[in-house]
Order: sequence, then C-alpha cells, then structure tokens
Amino acid sequence: MKLGLFGGTFDPPHNGHIAAAEDAAAQFGLNRVFLIPVARPPLKEAGPSAGAEDRLGMLRAAAGHDPRFEVSDFEVRRGGVSYSIETVRHFREHYPDAELFLIVGADQWGQIGQWKDVRELVRLVTFVVVDRPGEANAAEPAGIPGVRWHRCEGRHLHIGSTDLRARLREGSPVDSLVPPAVAAYISERKLYANP
Ligand code: ATP
Ligand code: MG
Repeated sequence: MKLGLFGGTFDPPHNGHIAAAEDAAAQFGLNRVFLIPVARPPLKEAGPSAGAEDRLGMLRAAAGHDPRFEVSDFEVRRGGVSYSIETVRHFREHYPDAELFLIVGADQWGQIGQWKDVRELVRLVTFVVVDRPGEANAAEPAGIPGVRWHRCEGRHLHIGSTDLRARLREGSPVDSLVPPAVAAYISERKLYANP
C-alpha cells in the first residue's frame, strides 16, 4: 500500500492542489492520498483567513470526485502549530505497513532544512516534490543525508491561494482556478469577501 500525505493551508484549495495530488498519485502509483489542512502553519506569518471547518469543507468539495482522495482533520483536531513530523508519526502508527509519500510543492521543498525534526522525517517518508511555476525545479537539499525524494513534473498550473484570496476580495472571477464545487462553497458562505 502506497499512501500519499499532502498537507497545506488550503485557504482556499485550488486546481493546482488537486493537479499536484493527482499527478503525484499517477506517477507513483499511490493507492490513497490524504489531504490534510493545517491548524496553523509553522513558517507563515499570518494564520489562515478561512476557519478550519470551512477549509475542511472546501477540501471535501474539491476532493469528492476521486475515490483515492480522503480529507483528514488530524491537524485541525490536534490544534496549535501543525508540524509534518507529528502528522507523519501518526500515519506511520496507523498504517505500519504502508509506504508513505509526502507530497510538497517546489516552494516548500526549498524550506525543508527548517522543518521540525527533519532528520527523523526523512527516515519515515519518501518526498514527492511537484514543480510549481516560478519556483526552481527541485534539487538535492543540502545537509540532509539520506533523504529520499523524487521530482514530479506535474501540470505547472500557475495558481496560488494568496492570489485567489486577492481576487475574491476584489470580486474577480475564480471559476477557472478552483473546482466548481469549491467556487460554489465560497460564494454560498461568502468567504474571503472582506479583508
Ligand atoms: P498560499 O499562497 O496561501 O501559500 P498556496 O497556493 O501556496 O497558498 P498552500 O496551501 O500553501 O497553497 O500549499 C499546499 C501545498 O500545495 C504546498 O506543498 C504547495 O507547495 C503546494 N502547491 C500549492 N499550489 C501549487 C501549484 N500550483 N502547483 C504545485 N504545487 C502547489
Ligand atoms: Mg503556500
């Protein structure tokens, strides 16, 4: 069993996230991919704009089409700052025989040296680093011996949640950038309309 773990703020989830999860699953034959929204991200200044329940709701709407995808509320339930190592330990315990793949975008890969307990983390997972427009392609990280990682070329979708939040604030359309069910969720709940 090959399990993908894909964490993020998902504020909101968008087509770039879904493509990354699909492309990683296809390239590495992942049986299941857990999409795991953070409670609070460690390396971002500001906390999420939308609440945890809405980010879970949007992600469920975004992931509903693919039976391999499952939304996990593990980090949200845990609360506080979410560290990948703690999430990975949890999945390692629950799926002791699974091979774990941690999916990250190329922008996150550049920061991996700053992640909590990175030396333990690299023993527990294989990283799948998905290309992201505007980011250098993944390279061997310095000073982290034994890290197992693969590049996933992916679809190079130039979409990001920060840009989406700005578009939603100013009332610009986002329909080509997020799954239809996410666009419907956002408009129904009137998310991101006010700063
Ligand atoms: P923000 O602008 O708020 O940081 P984001 O679009 O970067 O939002 P995150 O929730 O921070 O989204 O990202 C979650 C994960 O998805 C990260 O590993 C990130 O690198 C990856 N990711 C986000 N967008 C893309 C994309 N367009 N292509 C590939 N990977 C992506
Ligand atoms: Mg980001």
